[in-house]
Amino acid sequence: MAIRRSATKQQGLPAVVQLRLSPTLAQADALTAALLLCNQAATLISRLAWQHRTFTILELHRLAYHAVRAQMAGLGAQATVRAIARVAGAYANRRATKKRAHIFRPQGAVPYDARLMSWCRDARAVSLWTPTGRVTVPYTGRPEDLKAVDALPIGEADLIFRRGVWLLQVTVTLPKPGVREPVHGFLGVDQGVANLAVTSDGAVLPGPALPGPIQGNGHVRTLRERRHRQRRRLQAKGTSAARRVLRRLSGREYRMMTDLNHQISKYVVREAERTGQGIALEDLQGIRGRVRAHRLQRRTLHNWAFAQQIAFTRYKAARAGIAFLLVDPAYTSQACPGCGCVARANRPARGRFGCTGCGLAGHADHIAARNIAARGAAGWAAVNQPHATGLPSARRDRESKPPASVGDS
Ligand SMILES: [Zn+2]
Repeated sequence: MAIRRSATKQQGLPAVVQLRLSPTLAQADALTAALLLCNQAATLISRLAWQHRTFTILELHRLAYHAVRAQMAGLGAQATVRAIARVAGAYANRRATKKRAHIFRPQGAVPYDARLMSWCRDARAVSLWTPTGRVTVPYTGRPEDLKAVDALPIGEADLIFRRGVWLLQVTVTLPKPGVREPVHGFLGVDQGVANLAVTSDGAVLPGPALPGPIQGNGHVRTLRERRHRQRRRLQAKGTSAARRVLRRLSGREYRMMTDLNHQISKYVVREAERTGQGIALEDLQGIRGRVRAHRLQRRTLHNWAFAQQIAFTRYKAARAGIAFLLVDPAYTSQACPGCGCVARANRPARGRFGCTGCGLAGHADHIAARNIAARGAAGWAAVNQPHATGLPSARRDRESKPPASVGDS
């Protein structure tokens, strides 16, 4: 069956590949000078921006361009323009929470756009702007990354100096694969705290399905509880040393969750690909602002982790050409996938599902995942079949069958 997605513009997906640069000693000095100068310029512009409460690119340009060019010998026109854009970007999202001007680390990564670099792909070398002139530096990388850089459109790059190694993180544009028809329906994924994800096929994640050192939930939960206690203790202390430890802790926790979300989304997309299914997750954005707080939102301090899992899965699905849908989260934990009845009484105990109508019973998260899968399939049919009318079925269900009692799940 033809997929009715021709109306949407076929855009490529951005992806980042990492190249390792091998500059000579003299070239490395020039690159170091470039990092220092660009970050120094950005900090200078940032202070001006803060002082004058001026944050848009256009106004910043008017305010800072000539002052910076006059003060920073060697900073070319294009590097100045790029630094202004970078400062505007740094304030764009976080201005409200900032208490002082944003400072750019002296050796922090510096973005290079097309006018600050040029590629000699045949020679596997890149020519980069520095204050003392351009340097042409050879690069190496993983075979698939080299292939990507050889063949795909190249966007911006970040010049990075990390632990004595020069890296270039390059944005390339992947061609967008067509979305395949989910011939075997949808794989539903229920997100939770105890089990980060449970699929309608019965996989519990993290669990034995994932490779690597993550064995089961016990590991994640213990780690998280320990962190929580540690954090409470440090918060009570309130000294600057305690605050420092706190920042490092949250960074570590963030990295752990990000790693888990990567592994889970990778598994889910691979399973969907293997079994000819699309992927459906609950739309957690849609529930914001509703009167009743959703069970996920109430249960967790880590809403961002759910949002991150959705974002990772969406991205990986798109890259693999797998259908991806977000479905209405209402009552996915109370509805029976067997007979369709919705009741709070269907949840006799925490973690258990037992239908009062038809007797169907099972693990609550797995039942929820099956409901999500069914809504995914219904939503897909509604979008892709020309004769379907009205609202997607997930919403129709909810409006035609208001449950007698709605409360905590
Ligand atoms: Zn039932």
